[in-house]
Amino acid sequence: MTANKKLLMLPGDGIGPEVSAVVSRVIDWFAKRRQVSFDVSDGLVGGASYDKHGTPLTDETLADAMTADAVLFGAIGGPKWDTIDFSLRPERALLKLRKEMGLFANLRPAVVFPALADASSLKPELVSGLDLMIVRELTGGIYFGEPRGIEDLGWGERRGFNTLEYTTKEIRRVGRVAFELARKRGNRVCSVDKSNVLESTLLWREEMTKLGEKEFPDVELSHMLADNAAMQLVRDPKQFDVMVTTNMFGDILSDCAAMLTGSLGMLPSASLGAEENGRIPALYEPVHGSAPDIAGKDMANPVAMLSSFSMMLRYSFDLQEDADLIDNAISALLSSGLRTADIMQEGKAKVSTSVLTDAMIRELDKQAA
Ligand code: NAD
Repeated sequence: MTANKKLLMLPGDGIGPEVSAVVSRVIDWFAKRRQVSFDVSDGLVGGASYDKHGTPLTDETLADAMTADAVLFGAIGGPKWDTIDFSLRPERALLKLRKEMGLFANLRPAVVFPALADASSLKPELVSGLDLMIVRELTGGIYFGEPRGIEDLGWGERRGFNTLEYTTKEIRRVGRVAFELARKRGNRVCSVDKSNVLESTLLWREEMTKLGEKEFPDVELSHMLADNAAMQLVRDPKQFDVMVTTNMFGDILSDCAAMLTGSLGMLPSASLGAEENGRIPALYEPVHGSAPDIAGKDMANPVAMLSSFSMMLRYSFDLQEDADLIDNAISALLSSGLRTADIMQEGKAKVSTSVLTDAMIRELDKQAA
């Protein structure tokens, strides 16, 4: 048995609990078949927590998240809570978790399984086999810079303003995450900025260059302007290995890259904080929301959640072989023609979440045999 790691599951609302239940079955499988086990606890978050405790995130759940080795988060929100006070909305829970856990690096992989290359809006040959990782700075930049606001200038004029700023420390710590990741992948980092017009991102470029030369001379570093990066993502996405960029550019470019893969139900993510006493705070979650339109109908695609769990095995627990097992099983299921409704294609078999889950367990058995 591996030493037990503390895993906190926060299923949340809508399809969150449904896709979390799929991961729970896979966790049971790992304990039985691979002697890999975790101390799993769970908690309420979002609307589910609001209904029971009057707040989307209780102090106890936050404390559990702060001490867990990794948090696996489902999805939150839904029409039921759309009219409550802004400060109590389900979404506040995620913002608070990110802030309190200091999650400054957001990892958004865009992977296209060959079996789904037809589902992309780009030509299959451009995306088939795509495996790109975008690292977005998550707690700095223009979304947080001060001063900010809208002021009245009088005479019927108003002025809206925000501040884009980055410090050496903020740039280096997210840069390190990108370089380290590249070492485990294709060994290439592309840093994206607008150093031609924004001083704060000229600093970004200078610091990335220094960091690369000093600490990661073995990793190939290139730079690209954000407008060109947007163009290159749809022209030739396979040229990238790891892309690292600021909060706002990352927000936009990661959604653009996500769509290359076809469906929201396929996209995992990870958010990491700073190492302290050998522990890196980490939260893993699918990119999609709570999908109230299909909640409770046994229709949710669990792949984004399963891939989030696979990222957890890979990045928080360094269990590469076990993560590969999950990724390969997903790929095999898709190749065998099984599809949930969101990724259904002509000539394939449309299946429910539970049927896909049973098939996943059988496929894991096969892969591990
Ligand atoms: P959504 O991602 O929940 O759904 C968008 C569309 O994609 C829907 O048609 C949905 O059925 C489909 N979809 C999403 N995930 C799927 C899956 N795994 N399998 C099959 N189909 C899937 O986004 P939305 O509709 O804009 O938002 C719904 C609620 O989720 C809102 O309350 C929103 O605030 C919340 N939300 C939460 C998060 C989060 O928890 N991180 C993220 C985005 C939205």
